[in-house]
Amino acid sequence: MTRLFILLVIVFVWSSAEAKTPSQAAASGADVMFGIKLRPEAAKIKAEVERYYKSKIVESMERSGTTIFEASSGFDNRGAPKITLFREPTEVDIVHELLHLKLLAEGFPVVNFTINFDLDAASVADWLRLFTYIRDTVEHRIMYARMRKMGFEPFAADRAGLEQVMQGRRQLFTPSDKHFLMTSALIYFKVAVEQDNQEFLGRFYNWYVSKGIKENAHIGTYYVGAVKLSKLETPEDVARVLTKCLEPSYPPNVRYKFAGWKTLHFPKFKLRSITFEMNRRFDLPQPATKQPGP
Ligand SMILES: [Zn+2]
Repeated sequence: MTRLFILLVIVFVWSSAEAKTPSQAAASGADVMFGIKLRPEAAKIKAEVERYYKSKIVESMERSGTTIFEASSGFDNRGAPKITLFREPTEVDIVHELLHLKLLAEGFPVVNFTINFDLDAASVADWLRLFTYIRDTVEHRIMYARMRKMGFEPFAADRAGLEQVMQGRRQLFTPSDKHFLMTSALIYFKVAVEQDNQEFLGRFYNWYVSKGIKENAHIGTYYVGAVKLSKLETPEDVARVLTKCLEPSYPPNVRYKFAGWKTLHFPKFKLRSITFEMNRRFDLPQPATKQPGP
């Protein structure tokens, strides 16, 4: 039996081609992160996060040429909350990651999978990549409503990247992706849930049509329904919506079972987690083995 622990938070899917040098920290103080002075509502979230985790947030700038993520949040090896930015700091990226940390503090769950059959490491990695789209989109649904109330446009950078994709100036998909169907379906889902502009989504759908992959968008639409038609206010709501998103059962032949809540105890704070069991749905008949000829 394999047990996986996921605590992975990402901001944007589209990598930035041009890496810039970060500007020098221009300010300091409790309401400053990465040299940027936060608006009062954002500084309040930072204070709440630091109070909950009983540590200052660790700020890290990285210039990885290979990452597809523009920012991430998690914990360092001493258990302090940590935000890593992979591009020039902006208040919107910082607040995005602060809210991921705050949702965890509010009891929104870390997700575990228990795999009850043989699944090779590559398939596990593929599955985690795909599941990240689902988990993140569900969290972003909650976070972006809060950010829009604070005056941010949380989808603006993604939208600019997607406009370039639609103009043929940037690639959205990896041609060799062997899970292209699900990747493209879940990207459509992510965009449909996170944007707040129907005209833009209509053009994005037409772009899928023009690429001959409108069915992939329709698969994504199943997930859109599962998220948009559900109440999404409490950690329990999130567990229900994730369960609904796992029902279409991907990878094929896997059955997911919600196996309950747990509390994870760390020295300075607690997190809540949910576990899904992954079982083999059924055994497909194996193709007949060719007998070696005489
Ligand atoms: Zn995010």
